[in-house]
Amino acid sequence: MKDSILVINCGSSSLKFAILANAGQTTLVEGIADRLGSAGSSITFKYEGQKSEIPLTDGSHKNAVSQIKEWLKSHTEIESSLVGIGHRVIHGGETFSESVLIDQNVIDGIEKCAKFAPLHNPAHLKGIEVAFELFPGIPQVAVFDTAFHQTLEPEQYLYPIPMKLYREHHFRKYGFHGTSYRYISQQLAKTVPSSDEQGVLVAHLGNGASVCAINKGKSSDTSMGITPLEGLMMGTRSGSLDPGLISFIRQAEGISAQEALDILNKESGLLGISELSNDCRTLEEAMEKGDEKALLALNMFAARAAKHLASVATTLESIDHLVFTGGIGENSSYLRQVICQHLKALNINIDSTLNTEAPRGESSNITAVHSNTNVWIIPTNEELMIALDTINLIQD
Ligand code: ADP
Repeated sequence: MKDSILVINCGSSSLKFAILANAGQTTLVEGIADRLGSAGSSITFKYEGQKSEIPLTDGSHKNAVSQIKEWLKSHTEIESSLVGIGHRVIHGGETFSESVLIDQNVIDGIEKCAKFAPLHNPAHLKGIEVAFELFPGIPQVAVFDTAFHQTLEPEQYLYPIPMKLYREHHFRKYGFHGTSYRYISQQLAKTVPSSDEQGVLVAHLGNGASVCAINKGKSSDTSMGITPLEGLMMGTRSGSLDPGLISFIRQAEGISAQEALDILNKESGLLGISELSNDCRTLEEAMEKGDEKALLALNMFAARAAKHLASVATTLESIDHLVFTGGIGENSSYLRQVICQHLKALNINIDSTLNTEAPRGESSNITAVHSNTNVWIIPTNEELMIALDTINLIQD
């Protein structure tokens, strides 16, 4: 069938890609080019269960996309089925409330939003430029992490700071992980069609973590803000804290505001508290061996996740469903259990056996019989969502 989509997630030093076919249901090949821009960069292809790694001569984004093109030349059946390219774009600002076919206006719009995502958006633009150059004639689509949250009311998205700063500079909450939340909302509606008319909480817990309230299919509040630093404690990010702390850190350490922000973005969260790792699995192993800082880090993560779930739930009429997703949400029965313990006052309860025995990589219902809210684990699939948006837009 002629419906393969190349999905590209182009970061500043890495480029993840996948080719999905069969209406996005089959991943034909996937891979990652990393250490772009520095010596020793390479691209890995995972195809038919085999991994192969090719060194990149100049380590550029163009070099990485050229290798994908070369690979396709030796897999002509896949090459000839390629009909579109979908790009993940982190920040769409207030300009993009849905996925769009990329033209010069869209490129200008992504560039305009780069002030809010100075590392990501320029890298996405590089990926888009190179893809246009190397795959001429193939339509390309941009799918934005922020788009799903454009339905938030001003009460939720405005910061209580002088309005002038919003009017003149568009400083507001944007939210992220929107593609994942849209996917989860659709997956839940496949199992429970009425969920589209109900109140849904989603906890997307990975190295980056956020929560979202979805009221009747639309995002009504989310925990991340103008950048992904706000909200939950994460792998290396602190999440929300008193902004006054930044000036104390600056003075105490004799560093700039940017360096203080780097501490909050890169050295805090699970890593900062455990002084061991940002990785949940590593911390769970350490906790089982009696590491108290790992235990504290995980318990703080859970307490904060629960607090933000309760906070965004204030935009719902009822909490009918709670969904766990992302690497941690899908796999850590310990954190799911502690988070739900904190939500007992809201009568959200999970069945401990269903929770610990939940099959990996599949959706499951882990609700306790006496719970007011249905609790689910649903694996997210942002690549599939990007491929489906691309198929829809190139068919119009
Ligand atoms: P991101 O996309 O934000 O980089 P992921 O969604 O891939 O992150 O999630 C990565 C996190 O999921 C890591 O902290 C990792 O330890 C955790 N994780 C993955 N598998 C497990 C597991 N079996 N048990 C506990 N945590 C896990």
